[in-house]
Amino acid sequence: MEPRVAYTDRLQTNGDDSTPLIFLIESDPSLRQDLSTQIHYSGYRVLAFEQIELALAECKTRLPAALVVDLSQPEGDMAMVLAEIQMLNDQAVPIIFLSDRGDIETRLRAVRFGGNAYFQKPFDGGALIRAVDNVVHKRENEVHRILIVETDSDAAKMYSDILTSAGMQTEILNDPLQLSFSLQDFRPDLMLMNLYYPECLGMEVAAIVRQEEANQSIPIVYITGETQMEKILPALNKGGDDFLPLPVTADRLVSSVSARIDRSRILRSLLVRDSLTGLLNHTAVRERLTDATIRGKRKDQQFSFAMIDIDKFKRVNDEYGHPVGDQVIQSLARTIRQRIRKIDSAGRYGGEEFAVILEGLDLESAVKAMDRIRRAFSQIRHHSDKGDFFTTFSSGVVSFPDFEDAREMNDAADRALYAAKRSGGNCVARIVRKKT
Ligand code: GH3
Ligand code: MG
Ligand code: MG
Repeated sequence: MEPRVAYTDRLQTNGDDSTPLIFLIESDPSLRQDLSTQIHYSGYRVLAFEQIELALAECKTRLPAALVVDLSQPEGDMAMVLAEIQMLNDQAVPIIFLSDRGDIETRLRAVRFGGNAYFQKPFDGGALIRAVDNVVHKRENEVHRILIVETDSDAAKMYSDILTSAGMQTEILNDPLQLSFSLQDFRPDLMLMNLYYPECLGMEVAAIVRQEEANQSIPIVYITGETQMEKILPALNKGGDDFLPLPVTADRLVSSVSARIDRSRILRSLLVRDSLTGLLNHTAVRERLTDATIRGKRKDQQFSFAMIDIDKFKRVNDEYGHPVGDQVIQSLARTIRQRIRKIDSAGRYGGEEFAVILEGLDLESAVKAMDRIRRAFSQIRHHSDKGDFFTTFSSGVVSFPDFEDAREMNDAADRALYAAKRSGGNCVARIVRKKT
């Protein structure tokens, strides 16, 4: 029999105990090796097992952040072992299933085993990594933001208390006509509304929300004492997503709201995320940049914008092949994501170019932040069949209000980036506009 633990020693050199641990159970040795390597290079520690029983024994010593399990294990064993693993802890371990089959019965089995995702072989390794990222990091970016549009302050406070105590973030808007600032600043994941307000109807407010393209995907849930369905239906047909009849229990409120948000986040991420890296796509970063400048003007707040371009990337593709180039792009995305704060935004601008919005940072601090990312990235060892190698990037940084709109900022950051390249690359350059 194969050694039951493959890779551990080598993999652990790449991370300490805080690096999330993934258990991979796959009986095909070459796929097991291949997936272990990919998951490992994506910033995880991996323990790979041939059979699920071996993973169970290991789970008794330490629980993984996620299980990646080949479904073609004997049925009975699988059910028993997974149940036993899930009993080891209060919180369920996320499970990602792999399978040769795509039929509905097999998929149903995966659902009943508590699977969070399902991949039919052969599948794209990048997609598997994104699924691992999603389940492992879900808890970190799970703060749900709820905008409560409610003229009755007691009711508003009650909803807010319930949602806040469930770990969500809320903002109360007493005057529905003041909506636009809340949308822009608070960026809600969901809106709780009434069917009727003193000055307008809930569905009219919903129509205003939906006037903006960027707001199409925010779920709108009505809380209402209205019992006549014919009065509720028009609101649901016109931009509303759901309604909760009064009186509403705390459990019902929390579960409806979080289920809606989880679902809409998945859909939204398909629209605004780049599929290779999971970062924002070009359009989405530009939107964030525009929002940041509008907010910056209104609140007199500074922030910075950085563009990044990998140095001599053509050479990487030429020497090591396009798939290795893709891995380098993914590892840069990961480095950026790990080193910016939650309030910042990072996106893939195109090819091997990235952009970062650093909220609240002046030019000096932003340059320092980008330089830390630059140094971290330059120390990452990339792997290929032809041997290991290192790469670097250059970055151009500018700040608001030195430059006042998204386009000016973009163009100036691009010029700064160009200057960084001209001075030899692997550095961060800035452009300051002297105020006249
Ligand atoms: P420098 O930026 O230092 O001036 O040189 P460079 O070699 O990086 O030059 P340039 O920006 O012109 O080249 C970018 C290359 O990136 C060209 C293209 O083949 C490659 N590229 C763009 N998108 C992708 C991608 O998604 N995957 C891979 N592997 N390569 C890509
Ligand atoms: Mg380029
Ligand atoms: Mg380049």
